[in-house]
Amino acid sequence: MINEITIIKPDDFHLHIRDFPDAEKYINDSSIWFSRALVMPNTLPPIDTPEKMIAYKKQIEASNEKIEPLMSFKILSSLKSVDIINFKKAGALIGKLYPKGVTTNSSDGIENLRELYPIFAAMENQKITLSIHGEDPSVSLFQREKAFIPKLEQLTKDFPNLKIVLEHISTIEGVAFILSSSDNVAATITAHHLLFSVDDLMGGPFNPHLFCKPIIQTVEDRGVLRAAAVSGNPKFFFGSDSAPHIKSKKECSTSAAGIYSAPLAIPVVVEIFDNYGKINQLENFLSGFGADFYGLSRNSDKITIKRKKWKVPSEYHGVVPMLANRELNWSLKK
Ligand SMILES: [Zn+2]
Repeated sequence: MINEITIIKPDDFHLHIRDFPDAEKYINDSSIWFSRALVMPNTLPPIDTPEKMIAYKKQIEASNEKIEPLMSFKILSSLKSVDIINFKKAGALIGKLYPKGVTTNSSDGIENLRELYPIFAAMENQKITLSIHGEDPSVSLFQREKAFIPKLEQLTKDFPNLKIVLEHISTIEGVAFILSSSDNVAATITAHHLLFSVDDLMGGPFNPHLFCKPIIQTVEDRGVLRAAAVSGNPKFFFGSDSAPHIKSKKECSTSAAGIYSAPLAIPVVVEIFDNYGKINQLENFLSGFGADFYGLSRNSDKITIKRKKWKVPSEYHGVVPMLANRELNWSLKK
């Protein structure tokens, strides 16, 4: 039995920290476990110009020097190809595409991918990765990721050199698409999609703190996601999709979608890999494959995680985290 493991300090390739001043608390929580975080641009207002992206980056750097922010911009239909060159110069790693109405702050999202072909061509040229919330909101909830895949297949045919990340994959079909695609196509997987099934969300009393988009799917989907995560296939790497909403926005009649997992996602993932006897693949999934895909060097700092129980707090700064008040088996060794 392994009781302690030292790995390269992880990267979180999908993180929401919202707007300042609250963002400072969330980035502090992330900096305990993560060396770098790819911060998402769906703030209000969105990060949709190079100037806003640079300003957001500076705010993050000023608030916490222990974590390096990796930057993204939101792809809106108003975006011009020439803007892509400026985003590249400003250091953007990804452009993030949200179909219209699919999740938090996406009413300004995209309805027709074809309209964006000049943008995708510019991103392909500038070597900016296209990051996609891959759901089709026009179909029923549990079919949305599956329904989006034909659009992705067309996109990969039309832009074979464009790097694409299908974010927070949640289904058997999502995994199959990644496996059948070229090496330019990869996926992030969250801790919550690895840990839970729809039965945890609403098989019994509905748990708003497990409500997110894409929705947590079936036990069968979860099994395929777990197998993909522990497989050692470099096309699958970690992105928490940690997305804080204050308690009153979750525990109400119109619960917001999003799970706050950043303070405890790593212990959850360690436990899953340990249960599979795949601790040897942990470092690649958390700290290796994502950096490799994005052409970044792997981090130089390390963390040690040990088998020691701790209880997840009931709240972090007014946000109820995933697994609040529950006991976890793995801790950060300080
Ligand atoms: Zn997200």
